[in-house]
Amino acid sequence: RLSLNGIGKSFTAKGRQVDAVRDLDLNVYDGEYVVILGPSGCGKSTLVRCIAGLESPTSGTISVAGKTICDAGRGVNTSIHKRDIGMVFQNYALWPHMSVEKNVAYPLKRRRVAKEDRASRVREVLEALECAHLAKRLPAELSGGQQQRIALARALVYQPGLLLLDEPLSNLDALLRVSLRSELLRLHRSLRYTGLHITHDQEEALEMGDRVVLMREGRIEQIGPPEEVYGRPVSPYAANFLGVRN
Ligand code: ATP
Ligand code: MG
Repeated sequence: RLSLNGIGKSFTAKGRQVDAVRDLDLNVYDGEYVVILGPSGCGKSTLVRCIAGLESPTSGTISVAGKTICDAGRGVNTSIHKRDIGMVFQNYALWPHMSVEKNVAYPLKRRRVAKEDRASRVREVLEALECAHLAKRLPAELSGGQQQRIALARALVYQPGLLLLDEPLSNLDALLRVSLRSELLRLHRSLRYTGLHITHDQEEALEMGDRVVLMREGRIEQIGPPEEVYGRPVSPYAANFLGVRN
């Protein structure tokens, strides 16, 4: 399981300090799918980027399966490539000059997987995502939905125990969003990774989350199963953000 203890992250921009994440504790259990909600600027991306190893927290510790991957106080911060974590971004973030298969193979290369094994694992994951026919194309030759599938393939190719998704469906049109939503759930169930998924979409949170985390100014305002969070918001802030009465 993923365990965050007292995670804080401050930025200094133009001489002013911004506390993006404040003393935050969170446990995500193995096989769980947790959705993070909250207004723009409340620290969702920063939190997930700390877990991925793309940002160094200013304070706190992060452990996965009992192993500490980050301890701000002791200057411990395991490299991204050594974490058992995959990440998918809103803007896909594929390498434009690499073909689909090279994009998907890249994390395996970083992890020193032998060349013969790389090809077969890339093929497998592209087949699982029904994208095998796109292998030789460049990202620019794909639709948004196809690019996001390839980004997902690249994040899943090394079979991470934890998948982080930062608004993975926000750039897609409504129909595609709904179909990729159920596909994401299907993959989560069949491959059994733990999911931590940021969204602005209430319906997405309700449908996908085993639990929902509502953030406010770098902290957790409320956490629980979606029925509970939507049914019994703990504060006017929660009710207002979720668009329900408390
Ligand atoms: P959104 O829903 O708009 O994506 P978010 O909840 O993901 O918002 P973050 O991107 O985590 O929010 O930002 C949280 C706060 O930290 C914001 O005030 C933001 O301006 C600030 N911040 C984030 N990254 C940096 C940075 N690299 N330098 C300075 N400030 C930053
Ligand atoms: Mg964000």
